[in-house]
Amino acid sequence: MKIKKDKTKLIVPDRITIPYIEGDGVGAEITPVTQRVVDESVAKAYNGKRAIKWKEVFAGEKAFKITGNWLPDETITAFREYVVGIKGPLTTPVGEGIRSLNVALRQTLDLYVCLRPVRWFKGVMSPIKEPHKVNMVIFRENTEDIYAGIEWRQGTPEARKFLQFLTGEMGVSKIRFPETSSFGVKPVSQEGTERLVRSAIEYALANKLPDVTLVHKGNIMKFTEGGFKLWGYALAEREFGDRVFSMIQYDKIKKKQGENEASKALSEAKSAGKVIIKDVIADAFLQNTLLTPENYSVIATLNLNGDYISDQLAAMVGGIGIAPGANINYSSGYAVFEATHGTAPDIAGQNIVNPSSLLLSSVMMLEYIGWNEAANLITSAMEQTFVNGEATSDLARFMPDGKALGTTQFGDTLINLM
Ligand code: NAD
Repeated sequence: MKIKKDKTKLIVPDRITIPYIEGDGVGAEITPVTQRVVDESVAKAYNGKRAIKWKEVFAGEKAFKITGNWLPDETITAFREYVVGIKGPLTTPVGEGIRSLNVALRQTLDLYVCLRPVRWFKGVMSPIKEPHKVNMVIFRENTEDIYAGIEWRQGTPEARKFLQFLTGEMGVSKIRFPETSSFGVKPVSQEGTERLVRSAIEYALANKLPDVTLVHKGNIMKFTEGGFKLWGYALAEREFGDRVFSMIQYDKIKKKQGENEASKALSEAKSAGKVIIKDVIADAFLQNTLLTPENYSVIATLNLNGDYISDQLAAMVGGIGIAPGANINYSSGYAVFEATHGTAPDIAGQNIVNPSSLLLSSVMMLEYIGWNEAANLITSAMEQTFVNGEATSDLARFMPDGKALGTTQFGDTLINLM
């Protein structure tokens, strides 16, 4: 009944238990719809041979009401015990000493990859002219960077002490307004970078994708983001050898033998199915995603860049109501799939919320455990529904002749189409 992880792969029995957090606000609406659609897809794909038993665990408001704790230890234990889980959106408790339940979950389980696939569904309105060219998978580093939460507020004894250390011991003289500054620390490590980039390259190889792009701001933050780029390239060369071809190799050939030879080596590598490892500065990347999105398939990036990039790309294909996500540790196997939007309190309880984000996250979950046939049934049904101009109102209102379906009706439509 339990999924297990051995050294290299997940061991998935035919009947598995998946722990889930229903989620606050619209969570109570999207979670049951998602479970119904997933159950139906698994039953159809495997004729009843495989099945999921859903085990509810608590976090957020529901957990607080029942246990007095926003994130009970039992919830974390269940995600460890069952390896793979799924969650709806959670309210961020204000003034409870927890910055965010999502961040707490990611840090406790050391879920170092925030995985965000971004693709366009035909029929869904997009603010760009050629949304079919957007097909990327973002690997956002999830545990480091300015998100580590190491910061001190202006005027506190800690901020003053840190300022003293910088100016007195480290000889820093570049702080423009030292007395009124708040401070934050941005840790970026070689290990943290390597495990993230390794996962991205392995994903590209496993899914036969053409390239991995390291997105960074190393021109300005030379040792943190610049380190990310250097360590990423070095790891690609050291661990993946001739399964990849990097732009560092390209530059070396260009220097020695000229541009023609370098271009020839690059096109030979592409024809041989090698994954091309390249890099781009984050601001240029954001521009390029709008102008030439077809040039990118797998993205490996740091935490803050990844946050901006995920939302921009999601907006390009229809917004947060449809963008799925997962937090994964590929070494331990622990994975929590999630709706990427919030609790949407303004529309909760009205049966109008779009369940697509959690549904597509469940598709990612099925793919992660190797139940691709069930995943494909859901994806095809969603493709068909959108082509038919049927969607929840957030998407239907932008479709020519769009027909708005309620949340449960949307689920029923998918089930009928499967
Ligand atoms: P939100 O994502 O809940 O809502 C932003 C806007 O998008 C709202 O107008 C909402 O109605 C709309 N929207 C969101 N999801 C939708 C969907 N599936 N279908 C249709 N419309 C949708 O963001 P917010 O209002 O900033 O945050 C509300 C709460 O959610 C806060 O407590 C916040 O901390 C939390 N939050 C949680 C997560 C998470 O658990 N992953 C993510 C973001 C915000």
